[in-house]
Amino acid sequence: MPAQHIHIDGVVQGVGFRPFVYRLAHAHGLAGWVRNNSQGVDIQVMGPLSSLDAFARDLEIQAPPLARVQAIIRRPITEQDFNGEFHIMTSQEEPGFTLVSPDVATCSDCLQELFDPQNRRYRYPFINCTNCGPRFSIIRSLPYDRHNTTMATFHLCNACQDEYNDPLNRRFHAQPNACPHCGPHIWFEATDILFTDEAQALQAANQWLKSGHILAIKGLGGFHLACDATNERIVQALRKRKSRPHKPLAVMMRDMDMVRDYCKISLEEEALLTSSATPILLLEPKSATDLATGIAPGQRSIGVMLPYTPLHHILLRDINRPLVMTSGNRQNEPIARTNEEARTKLGHLADAFLWHNRQIHNRIDDSVWMVTADGPTPIRRSRGEAPRPIELAIEATDPILAIGSQMKNTFCILIGSQAFLSQHIGEMDDVESWDFFTESVYRYRELFGAQPKIIAHDLHPDFTLTAMDALETLIPNARAVPIQHHHAHVASCLAENQASGPAIGLALDGTGYGPDGTIWGGEILVADLKSYRRVGRLEPFHLPGNEAAIHQPVRISLGLLLESLGQLPPNLDVVQRTHESLRRAVTVQLRQNLNAPSTSSCGRFFDATAALLGLRDTVTYEGQAAIELETLAAPHMPIDPYPVQLDRTRQLWQLPTRGIFREMTSDILWGAPPAEIAARFHATLIALLFQLAQRLRQETGINQIALSGGCFQNRILLEGLLHALRVQDFTVLTHHQVPTNDGGISLGQAAIAAAHITAGQ
Ligand code: ZN
Ligand code: ZN
Ligand code: FE
Repeated sequence: MPAQHIHIDGVVQGVGFRPFVYRLAHAHGLAGWVRNNSQGVDIQVMGPLSSLDAFARDLEIQAPPLARVQAIIRRPITEQDFNGEFHIMTSQEEPGFTLVSPDVATCSDCLQELFDPQNRRYRYPFINCTNCGPRFSIIRSLPYDRHNTTMATFHLCNACQDEYNDPLNRRFHAQPNACPHCGPHIWFEATDILFTDEAQALQAANQWLKSGHILAIKGLGGFHLACDATNERIVQALRKRKSRPHKPLAVMMRDMDMVRDYCKISLEEEALLTSSATPILLLEPKSATDLATGIAPGQRSIGVMLPYTPLHHILLRDINRPLVMTSGNRQNEPIARTNEEARTKLGHLADAFLWHNRQIHNRIDDSVWMVTADGPTPIRRSRGEAPRPIELAIEATDPILAIGSQMKNTFCILIGSQAFLSQHIGEMDDVESWDFFTESVYRYRELFGAQPKIIAHDLHPDFTLTAMDALETLIPNARAVPIQHHHAHVASCLAENQASGPAIGLALDGTGYGPDGTIWGGEILVADLKSYRRVGRLEPFHLPGNEAAIHQPVRISLGLLLESLGQLPPNLDVVQRTHESLRRAVTVQLRQNLNAPSTSSCGRFFDATAALLGLRDTVTYEGQAAIELETLAAPHMPIDPYPVQLDRTRQLWQLPTRGIFREMTSDILWGAPPAEIAARFHATLIALLFQLAQRLRQETGINQIALSGGCFQNRILLEGLLHALRVQDFTVLTHHQVPTNDGGISLGQAAIAAAHITAGQ
């Protein structure tokens, strides 16, 4: 009788793959076994050749919904004695790597059981099965078996063990399987109050939320701070306690019906919102709902997500109104992971805690996506997605660690052609973030068994030095490959589209180091994965006060007025409302070139414009002014651009920032409404970038354009430019897998380093 060994690569652990193989083997009348090893799944089967072929075919086409089969490798083996039976064998541990499943939102079967009073898991906050539940967040090491997860401390009761052992049960080999008798539990705690009984704890949580309190809730990948999203007072209190005056807060809604009550939503958006990754999705809110206005001030959209754990489902059903669910952290620190961490860090932010005793091993924030006219695009790629790799068209001969950027940090380990992008690490300006960074690099390295030999890094000197220090013992003797920030943006866009260039790259963002030591941020490159040439930029302007200008864009606005008009027109509102001492300081800084670095940053140009139009003189989070400018402009699009021209100095095309500023100033003095000026500002950038693309196509013969950088989170800019370019038959590459902002930088760095090494440089 013919026998075969079959090896399967891909996301095949923790997704119900072995039970599926078991059932399939029975259906085809085959004997043999299946087991996980640390590199995927191994199968040995024996039976008639036609059955073996049919079995192999069905392995691919009938694979469980969460599995991603990448390769099926079959080889004949000698006849075996399987006793005519098919078994599931225990896992074999050996070095190597397999793919780790991201965490998965509660499935519909579990949801139904959760609210079935007859079910033994009725309202049990940790119900899960092979199709859903925690994965990456609880995995300590591979292979994915219970003893390698944080569920190891809970011993299965007989009922759960029976399910676990029964190949025909939905919980067959469901590693986090649990029930109220044997699994994790929750408790409620506030000053002088402790409810350890599950029902009492849930009731208390509900009452405290309803009566306008802030709850710290332990979730899947970290803690959330939660409060009633329809209660303006408590939303403002949360902002005050978190020192987060304006940055949008995510809202969790009970189900799709509730989402439709509060938001306008397309079918494409609905599909993303209800996907197994259940990200936060930016949606346009309906007007006149009872949602607190403090949720997302000045924004066109609000961040909405559905419940993704049983605990969330219970809380949302009970309260039956939207809840703010924002990361449980102090400003710019990582999301709290352990109970001790939460107690120290969130104690003064929350009125009460809803705890549980399932440990979170890998901390992971919620993912954030938006849907544009170009389809879904991530803003933060984290829970539900990491650590699933991105398949590249390029292959690294040695593993590469790319350490990303200083803001919105992620890192990336490239092994062969698989890019393992980390979860969101965050802003790298405090010790806690660096601890999270090194801890995660260590864990990814262990999990995927890769010892990187190359470290790809940004040109940012402080960030690079700190990172190299932190990695010194972790990744010893690595070769460092420096990579320019905007080249990395363009490369990340090329890489995720499996393109290698050359392409015309439009990299528009806030800040990135240029090789000339100045701050770049509005860059037009001709680039492939190996190299780039800067062919255009925004005409540079100054940042009077440097760091101060980033928090206080009105400084940039005054500076640009001085640079474009030679004076501060006294009848201009922005001039009248700023204090004389500030005007004087800016003037001195510019005239004497003191602490006023030059920049071509597109993000800062948006900021300056927002201040000019009276929207906002100071910002409390990155991108705030630009977002408000977009919100203001949206109702007036499309509109004619200003009559300004590209210019060319020293081989560089330039978008005339001063010319645009002059046009806007005269519009203001003439009395044009700010919203209309904001719209013409967008239209002008789109028109100039489009013209530039056409000229560059003529000059270079390159028809492929890559759009990257945080500014492309602006829908008007992205959609306007895309439309213009596609009408003229450009091939336009955009982001659909990694963020267009700095969260995608590490992928670009890894791809560039791989291209360098392949080229023997
Ligand atoms: Zn389930
Ligand atoms: Zn049990
Ligand atoms: Fe950037």
